Amino acid sequence: MLPTPAIAALREQFPLITELMALQPMSWFNPRIAPAAEGLDDVGLTADDVAQASARLARFAPYLAQAFPQTQASGGIIESPVVPLPAMQAALGMTSGQLWLKQDSHLPISGSIKARGGIYEVLKHAEMLALDAGLLKEGDDYSVLASDAVRAFFGQYAIAVGSTGNLGLSIGIMSARLGFRATVHMSADARQWKKDKLRAHGVTVVEYATDYSVAVEAGRKQAEGDPACHFVDDENSHDLFLGYAVAGQRLKQQFEAAGVPVDADHPLFVYLPCGVGGGPGGVAFGLKLAFGDCVHCVFVEPTHSPCMLLGVHTGLHEQISVQEIGIDNVTAADGLAVGRPSGFVGRAMQRLIDGYATVTDEELYRLLATLEQTQGLRLEPSAVAGFAGIPPVLAAPQYQQNLPRATHLVWGTGGSMVPQEEMAAYVARGRALLAAGAA
Ligand SMILES: *Cc1c(COP(=O)(O)O)cnc(C)c1O
Repeated sequence: MLPTPAIAALREQFPLITELMALQPMSWFNPRIAPAAEGLDDVGLTADDVAQASARLARFAPYLAQAFPQTQASGGIIESPVVPLPAMQAALGMTSGQLWLKQDSHLPISGSIKARGGIYEVLKHAEMLALDAGLLKEGDDYSVLASDAVRAFFGQYAIAVGSTGNLGLSIGIMSARLGFRATVHMSADARQWKKDKLRAHGVTVVEYATDYSVAVEAGRKQAEGDPACHFVDDENSHDLFLGYAVAGQRLKQQFEAAGVPVDADHPLFVYLPCGVGGGPGGVAFGLKLAFGDCVHCVFVEPTHSPCMLLGVHTGLHEQISVQEIGIDNVTAADGLAVGRPSGFVGRAMQRLIDGYATVTDEELYRLLATLEQTQGLRLEPSAVAGFAGIPPVLAAPQYQQNLPRATHLVWGTGGSMVPQEEMAAYVARGRALLAAGAA
């Protein structure tokens, strides 16, 4: 924690910090929001970079279809459905617009949004090594990478990552399948089942009693000492970011196929749970490229971990953590339990994100149970955070004119791999809170 006078000075300069410190749900709309054509200049990456990432994933599709039979139906492309939520919309009392859910909770291989960026970065690294070693040539069918000889080759190399859980699952499962030696440095928030699952895949799991930033630092250190080790840097990686960004064009095609209009008269609001920022930031970048000014992105964080809001609002980005203003970074939303944001993402997206909101753990459980009751869909606590971004948008004067024709898309970021007993406990907790609220 910062010295008291330093906190007082920050609160003086940024009154919003006092609101954050009160740990009540709040929202902030970004006064620096710019037209996409201008804001995209901040990113330092382009539509062509995203197109290359997309093409790389297409090259790997034959391999993935072979290595992970659950991706065969989609021809080795890792993508999730987008579905309307009429019953949830009614339960939330939303009388205008249409509510939809992007089911990254059901992405194949690792059951969370991390199956986009995490798997992409491992594949890109594997491609580079295999091309350099002459084990792969341009135009090859990438299923050659599944051979024992190639797996033995990758066994000379290591991949390391620090994670609150889901990124570790994606990186660990993908790396181990290719044959890499994989190490995942897990923060105290990580659920036991995620550690068990990784160990069952042959991944080395190192546990820390501290938070995410410490686990990341440990991973970085391990990799620095080993030239054969690639460190997946959740706080700064452009590859992770590009892997997430591919979702933009894919969603555009899905909405076109579903007959959902997105244009100047039919705005699209997308609500993304935010941890360190790479996942929501990369997806939002892809969405801005695909839909331009017709899409409005809102990030949602736990009241106990509002790191991106704090970093962007103050302009201090990774130079400030929630702990420094006395917020504990303890939340049931394990995927969002991050105290210090990615400075790369905060700066890259500083004029492209419309707004930020925070949500309590109790509200996450209520939303989780409501979604289960109304639609039969089971998501983990982090993954329902997006719903909490809707009320501030519905109340914001700047959007009123087009709200009746708007589509509201909640990015459901994880949950399909949560063990049944654990999910049952989440739902029970939410139902108890709903019942207590109704009484
Ligand atoms: C990681 C994660 C997020 C947020 O992604 P960041 O890149 O950390 O911002 C959201 N939801 C779930 C379920 C996650 O695992």
